[in-house]
Amino acid sequence: MRKLFSFLLIATMAMGFTACSSNTPAPAETPTAETPAAEAPADEKPLIGVTIYKYDDNFMSFVRQNIEAAADGKAELVMNDSQNDQAKQNDQVDAMIAKGVKALAINLVDPGAAPAIAEKAKAANIPVVFFNKEYPDGTDKTGYDKAWYVGTTSAESGVIQGELIAEGWKANANWDKNGDGKMQYVMLMGEPGHPDAEARTKYSVDTVVAAGIEVEELAKQTGMWDAAKGKELMETWLAAHGEKIEMVICNNDGMALGAVEALKASGYFEGDKFMPVVGVDAIPEALDLVEKGQMAGTVLNDAENQGKATLELAVNAALGKDVLEGTSWVLDETRAVRVPYVAVTK
Ligand code: BGC
Ligand code: CA
Repeated sequence: MRKLFSFLLIATMAMGFTACSSNTPAPAETPTAETPAAEAPADEKPLIGVTIYKYDDNFMSFVRQNIEAAADGKAELVMNDSQNDQAKQNDQVDAMIAKGVKALAINLVDPGAAPAIAEKAKAANIPVVFFNKEYPDGTDKTGYDKAWYVGTTSAESGVIQGELIAEGWKANANWDKNGDGKMQYVMLMGEPGHPDAEARTKYSVDTVVAAGIEVEELAKQTGMWDAAKGKELMETWLAAHGEKIEMVICNNDGMALGAVEALKASGYFEGDKFMPVVGVDAIPEALDLVEKGQMAGTVLNDAENQGKATLELAVNAALGKDVLEGTSWVLDETRAVRVPYVAVTK
């Protein structure tokens, strides 16, 4: 119906133009019949090629769902699971370009691979919107002016998490189990080299210290954003440090869920055996634990708006429009849209 309408519109305008030009010579600036035709793709749904670094990531499954929801009626998607393999993702990008996608939306496996992907996109003259994994030097440094980023200000999540920890610590004297005035903590980190992981690790603790709380790190390791790895590490640390642990800081909720599992298996959250565990993301399972008092807090990582912004920028870019057209997003000087984090406690 829409197609028929635009055809009639073009036909009518072409006729009008012909009629007009038979009487008066067309001035050089007069729009030709091509003008509406060139805009016709705006009526269509552009084909957009999407990669997720791995489907088997708790948080990314929500971002993915929100990209799909936002695409409804606006774009056709080609979805790819890169299975945590950058070489595989490079092949997927080549295949999507060969297939004729009009824009790419890329959740990198390796954040450092952004320039290589940008180069492929540039060679094919296709815009690319990176999301969730930011090129550490900034998306404006990828060597392609049609590359954008949608994500967050990574440090913000660490600061908010640190504030949650400091507030809890100050409000609950019994969290200092050994009464030495120091917070003995363990830290479950996300993927090394991931800007979110690096910033959360640093800013959470810096914020606690800036609030005047003395800290002692008992253990710190990467759990690769993963619940099973988080559980394993927490088991190891409980065996090594037991009751000395007073706080469990996790770069994401996935690992916090694993840590809580390990804690439960050691008798925590029964009677008055308690452990404050904090995460980031606010995935539904974590909200459930916050509600039950088995997590002290988390930080909303807004999958809905990140998915929506990614899709909207990609559609605009695919149609050759200003990427922000018709949206309320704002770009910073690195060509990034940064969706805010929000603190979540019971
Ligand atoms: C999320 C993690 C997720 C990671 C994937 C982070 O922003 O907090 O849960 O695993 O992105 O890149
Ligand atoms: Ca202590």
